[in-house]
Amino acid sequence: MKIIAGNWKMNGSRATLTAMMGALSEVKTENKVILCVPFTMIDTESSNNVQIGAQDISSHARGAYTGEVSGAMLAEIGTKYVIVGHSERRMYHDETNDIVREKAKMALENGITPIICVGETMEEKRAGKTLDIIEAGVRESVPEDVDGDIIIAYEPRWAIGAGVTPTAEEIATAHKVIADTLSYMGLDGTPILYGASINSENVADIVAIKNVYGVLVGGASLKIDEFVSIINNAN
Ligand code: PEP
Repeated sequence: MKIIAGNWKMNGSRATLTAMMGALSEVKTENKVILCVPFTMIDTESSNNVQIGAQDISSHARGAYTGEVSGAMLAEIGTKYVIVGHSERRMYHDETNDIVREKAKMALENGITPIICVGETMEEKRAGKTLDIIEAGVRESVPEDVDGDIIIAYEPRWAIGAGVTPTAEEIATAHKVIADTLSYMGLDGTPILYGASINSENVADIVAIKNVYGVLVGGASLKIDEFVSIINNAN
């Protein structure tokens, strides 16, 4: 069983989600499918085949934080998963590992599984810092004394939306560092997803890499046929 998570970012509509849910209801798969959609679509009911998730959560429980949505609010409408620390949140909203950890904590306190993203920029990759960034990302973004499920997503930031992926060896090395860090933290067995430029052609090879439990898919998760093929090809 692999986890196939989609991140719609600020794309799609309730109509496109209805069409996607309809298509996914026909898919026979052992894989767990999660679609992380904009806040306005989160009240869409999850089905046997697809769980609906969010793309962000406030690091605060309540109060004067205009525009933010709390863990309790997400839980109230049945949200089971939330992406935290996506590279676009880190880049455009200056989210640090400390903020990401607070968000993950809020998710867990409300019974929501955080999908915690870590990954290096091209500048960091060129400077040979990839593994340090990933290790620190996990150590600092995962809350202490985790009570509940978490998922980690390794997303090399330079490969997101770029149509290129790291080599299989680079992915294997990154996932091993994440698995070892999680093990050190007492979190053996935590699923680690790979994300960035996944498509129906490369998904089978990538999920075959050791310590890759599934994928986080951006652009391709909006295209019905392509997303269905990704789910099928990941089997
Ligand atoms: C993402 O933004 O999480 C992502 C994986 O994007 P893409 O698949 O489009 O590279």
